[in-house]
Amino acid sequence: MTVKTRFAPSPTGFLHVGGARTALYSWLHAKNQGGKFVLRIEDTDIERSTQEAVDAILEGMTWMGLTWDEGPYYQTKRFDRYKEIITKMLADGTAYKCYCSKERVNALREAQEKAGQTARYDGKCRNLAPLDTDAAYVIRFKNPKEGSVKFADHVRGHIEFSNSELDDLIIQRTDGTPTYNFCVVVDDWDMGITDVVRGEDHINNTPRQINILKALNAPLPEYAHVAMILGDDGAKLSKRHGAVSVMQFRDEGYLPEALKNYLVRLGWSHGDQEIFSEQEMIELFSLDAVNKAPSAFNTDKLIWLNQHYIKTLDPAYIATHLTWHMANQKIDIANGPALPEIITALSERAKTLVELAASSRYFYEEFEQFDAAAAKKHLRPVAKEALILVQQKLQSTDDWTDATLHQVINDTAEELEVGMGKVGMPLRVAITGAGQSPSLDVTLRLIGKTRSITRISRALEFIAARELAQ
Ligand code: GLU
Repeated sequence: MTVKTRFAPSPTGFLHVGGARTALYSWLHAKNQGGKFVLRIEDTDIERSTQEAVDAILEGMTWMGLTWDEGPYYQTKRFDRYKEIITKMLADGTAYKCYCSKERVNALREAQEKAGQTARYDGKCRNLAPLDTDAAYVIRFKNPKEGSVKFADHVRGHIEFSNSELDDLIIQRTDGTPTYNFCVVVDDWDMGITDVVRGEDHINNTPRQINILKALNAPLPEYAHVAMILGDDGAKLSKRHGAVSVMQFRDEGYLPEALKNYLVRLGWSHGDQEIFSEQEMIELFSLDAVNKAPSAFNTDKLIWLNQHYIKTLDPAYIATHLTWHMANQKIDIANGPALPEIITALSERAKTLVELAASSRYFYEEFEQFDAAAAKKHLRPVAKEALILVQQKLQSTDDWTDATLHQVINDTAEELEVGMGKVGMPLRVAITGAGQSPSLDVTLRLIGKTRSITRISRALEFIAARELAQ
C-alpha cells in the first residue's frame, strides 16, 4: 500500500513554526516511505478562514521546499461529498437527527457540571422513530456505548479512550453545514491517507474520528501526534518569543535549509548528528524516533545552522535567496558585482542573509560617510603617502585580479618600508568606509577599478580637510 500523509492546516493565520515542523515530519515520512504528501486546507470555519491565510500557508510551504504531490484540496469545495456521506449514515442508522433544543442541551450540561460529571449529550434522540416535523435538528454520530478505542500512536505509544467518555458528536449543524471532526474523517478516507501526522492538541479528536471511520467501514490510518514547541522560558511558543511565522524567519535572513534542519532536530534525533542534508533527512527520518516531550526553541542553534549553510551551500543557490534581501534593503544589484561573488567574499562573517546584504552595500553604492572611529584611527596625515602611492599603482594596473592587487599592496608597503597594515588599513577604510572587510585584494577586485580610485581620492580629501581643521 502506498503511504500517503497530509498536512491539513486551518487558514486562520500565518504558517507557524509548530505547523511547519508538523508539515515537515509528515512530508519526510511520505518521502522516506516512497509515498505521497497531500496538502489540504481545512477552511470550514468560514468566519475565521481567509484567503490571505491560505496564501501565507502556500507561501510558507513553498519557501520551505515542502512540495505537495496532491492538492491543495479545500474542504469548502467538498460540501456535497460530506452531505452524501451523512445521508448514507442516516440511512445506515450510524447517525441520527437530534431535535433537542439548545436550551435543553445547555441545561443538561449545567446540571452535569454541577454534579461533577463530564458534560455529554444524554442520547435522548438516539432511538427516536422518524418524525414528520419541520423542527430544526442537528445530526449526531451514534458513538458506540461500550468498549474502548485503542490505537498505537507512533510518537506517544499505546493510547486508549473508553467509549463511555465520548458522546454522540454533532456531524451536521442546524444550518446543514458539516462539522470539523466529520470533514477530517471523510477527507482522510477519500484521500487515502495512511498516516496522520499532526499536533498533539488533536489527540482527543482521534477516538471520535476512529469511531466514525469504523462506522463507515473505512480503513484506519496510523497516527503520530507531535508534541508542542515551547519558548526558551518553557511557555508555549508565541510571538512574544520572537519570530514564529515561517515567513518571518525568511525576513530575518534564515535559509530554508537552516530552518528545516533546525526543525527536524527539534523533536527528532539520529545519534548525535546535527547537520542533515535534505537527502539524509529523508533517508533517516522515522516517526518512531520522534520525541514525545515538548521541545524548547533555541534561536542560537538556529543561527549556528544558518551560518553553516551560508558558508557551505553553493553561492549561486544562496544568491536566489539573497536577491530578495537586497531588494528589501533597497540595494541595486545591477550596480555592482554578481551576487555569488559577494556571497563567496562575505559568507565567513554573516550570521544571516540580512547581515550579509547589509554588509555588501558598499560594493553597490557610495557610503555616506567614513565610520568615525575607523577614520579617526586610519585616515590620518601619515596615511597620505601610502594612499597616494597605492592609488598610483592601482591606476596603472590593468590586470584587476586578486594576485596582482595583492602584489600592488605588497609593493607599496615595500617601497615605503612600512608594514602591510600601514597601507592596508587606510586603504580598507578608504574604499569601504569602515575598518572591516574581506581581504583587500578581493574587496578591491569586487569594488572595481574606477570606484576604488575615486574612493581613495575621497579619503585623501577627507585627510586634507582634517589637516585644515587642525
Ligand atoms: N486543521 C487542523 C489544524 O490546523 C489540523 C487537523 C488535522 O491535522 O487533523 O490544527
